[in-house]
Amino acid sequence: AEPNMVLAENAKRVVAEFDFHTEALQKAVDEFRREMDEGLHKDGTELSQIPTYVTGVPNGTEKGLYMAVDLGGTNFRVCSVQLHGNSTFSITRSKTAVPLELMEAKTSEELFAFLAKQIEAFLKEHHDEHYTTYKHRKSIGSATDEEIFSLGFTFSFPVHQIGINKGLLMRWTKGFDIQDTVGKDVCALLQAELDKLHLPVRVAALVNDTVGTLMARSYTSPGKTRTLLGAIFGTGTNGAYVEKLDRITKLANKKDAGDYDKSTGEMVVNTEWGSFDNSLRTLPNNPYDVELDRNSNNPGIQMFEKRISGMFLGELYRLALLNLLNLHDPRNPFYVSESREEYGSVSTKSRVSKDSPIFKQWGLDTSFLSICAGDNSTNLRVIRQTLDTEYSIQDVSIDDAKAFRDIAAAVGRRAARLSAVAIAGIVLNSGMLEDESEEVIDIGVDGSLVEFYPGFEAYIREALREVPGIGEKGEKRIRIGIAKDGSGVGAALIALVAAGMA
Ligand code: ADP
Repeated sequence: AEPNMVLAENAKRVVAEFDFHTEALQKAVDEFRREMDEGLHKDGTELSQIPTYVTGVPNGTEKGLYMAVDLGGTNFRVCSVQLHGNSTFSITRSKTAVPLELMEAKTSEELFAFLAKQIEAFLKEHHDEHYTTYKHRKSIGSATDEEIFSLGFTFSFPVHQIGINKGLLMRWTKGFDIQDTVGKDVCALLQAELDKLHLPVRVAALVNDTVGTLMARSYTSPGKTRTLLGAIFGTGTNGAYVEKLDRITKLANKKDAGDYDKSTGEMVVNTEWGSFDNSLRTLPNNPYDVELDRNSNNPGIQMFEKRISGMFLGELYRLALLNLLNLHDPRNPFYVSESREEYGSVSTKSRVSKDSPIFKQWGLDTSFLSICAGDNSTNLRVIRQTLDTEYSIQDVSIDDAKAFRDIAAAVGRRAARLSAVAIAGIVLNSGMLEDESEEVIDIGVDGSLVEFYPGFEAYIREALREVPGIGEKGEKRIRIGIAKDGSGVGAALIALVAAGMA
């Protein structure tokens, strides 16, 4: 066979290996709905279904000035958000790097005092009048609660949340290591330091980024609709949605569950869907999935996420490409070279340099998947050029570049169809499709994958139409919109909801 024929045949096979056909999709949706229900009535299930104590979502008419802070890793962000009450807002921000020595401080106070100091500096710079007046009135004993900013605290480390503004640190990650903090309430630690500085700030809510996305979308979505689901498709994937309180049966049995507002009859649930179907009852599992998982640092865990999110799709694509190139097959159209100098002697083959990132674990970024899947240039010039300049793969023929494109499309399409499983499960379980009075079912999404992978939403929609109970009619009612800034405006909105309960 001609070398190109070999590659084309291989490409067809690899594309088929990423198939996630209608029947499999339907089975997975059923399983997702089952795990949703299971997670609502007991702990330790594959979908964690964590109650967030956030008991309502905004509709865009909310007003006021709120604060939000975000400790996510390297940076600490502070912002204030003015909600205008018409789905729009203005935001003022600052950002500071967390000093390395504080990440490994001896006591929690050292870190949290630093955070409080940044909040003080922010107030002095951007809300000086408010800050000075409050200090003065406080000193003469006439300060009131209305003068205190409610603050939403986005804290992206594992916490055991037991109230809207109460969460115990389970363990530090991302380079932080302060043993003293483990087991303590991080909101109380921040509040204590704010109080030492006599700042007019109350830590009103502990915020998960997915819940922030939901709130941000719910406030900004067109009309006065409330959003059902906030979903992230970035480095990782996760979703939070509005659940009926009486369906969260495990909450009533929790010994350490704090108080919450029962009047809305609703609570936002953080699904932690990255670990959906870890036991692979319904998820596809091709040879590349198996290999990626085997070489990961947490085999058997986050199995849904490993098939969907930005952290993993580049690697999945890389493993599929290695198989495509089938470098052990003497008929393969690629020639692996030791060095660039050697190229001169081989003229008929594409060439892969031995030190191409394609040979290294995690060597391909997911943004490359987007480039390949979206290349509409003449003769696939973009793919061929990128392979040459960034991946040391030279002289790729147009037919071979097509194979790269088709496989990128297959990997991304499957990820989008899997994403649709979660969306479909949540939409169906909400019962909103049976309620004809609710015209649109609104969903907020965030993350580079859904924002930049070409056609991600279109693939999701195609899959939604294949789900019994949704179909063409249901799919049309589902509105998907980008929700930016969950840890800014989203966290501020959670502070607002929480302040209303206090
Ligand atoms: P995070 O989820 O960390 O807040 P992002 O939403 O930007 O941040 O997601 C980052 C992830 O998205 C990384 O895994 C990266 O590989 C991937 N990514 C970045 N750019 C693109 C792109 N153009 N297309 C697809 N994935 C991308």
